[in-house]
Amino acid sequence: MADEHGQSGTGPEATAPPDELLQRLRRFHDDYFPGVADQFQDLVRDGQHPTILFIGCSDSRIVPYLLTGTGPGELFIIRNVGAFVPPYDGSAGYHGTAAAIEFAVLNLKVARIVVCGHTHCGGIRALYEDPPAQAVNLKAWLELGREAVLPVQVTEEALRRTEQRAIVLQLERLMGYPMVRERVEAGKLALHGWHYVLEDGEVHVFDVKSGRFLPTAHAQHSGTGPYEPYVDQAPPAGA
Ligand SMILES: [Zn+2]
Repeated sequence: MADEHGQSGTGPEATAPPDELLQRLRRFHDDYFPGVADQFQDLVRDGQHPTILFIGCSDSRIVPYLLTGTGPGELFIIRNVGAFVPPYDGSAGYHGTAAAIEFAVLNLKVARIVVCGHTHCGGIRALYEDPPAQAVNLKAWLELGREAVLPVQVTEEALRRTEQRAIVLQLERLMGYPMVRERVEAGKLALHGWHYVLEDGEVHVFDVKSGRFLPTAHAQHSGTGPYEPYVDQAPPAGA
């Protein structure tokens, strides 16, 4: 969001250095919120009914609302390093991503799950490097992308392909969640694999039939699958 360089709050405490973040919060409340207050009050009264679970990388350059033209109440969002989905292995613990998937599918009954990776992903690049020794959780987490790694020299091309392979891998893992599989099989839930090309502002969607990522300009739908039993069938309830 473009903003002119914070000139607004010359308050009484002018001696303290301006807290830019505080100014932004005030600007949101004073300038922006009045225009959308009704919308938020409706969302509070009626509750949230998002139809899309968006699983995206934590990368600051991905702005899901901009990308999808959505607004308040429309996306249920999980973000983590690499846009990874942990396997549904029956273990219960502090599994934030798994918990949010369960909530989105079982409680919110979303109709779509998007896994959105992107170009120049630090999480994917890190698969080819050694993380800092102190980052024990990061090191473990990155293993969720390990299968996508190519046994080649690290090049920009190899990184792009790894990013895409990782997205497909996460979609496959999603199918390991019983509540996801059930709803996909019933045609009530569609899976979408997106590779967002930051520099072009274009999403390449995974096409199950061709097994390729197609730019939205050429894609026939916003993505479905993949999951072994369905690869050769028509995509369920896509758009
Ligand atoms: Zn990333």
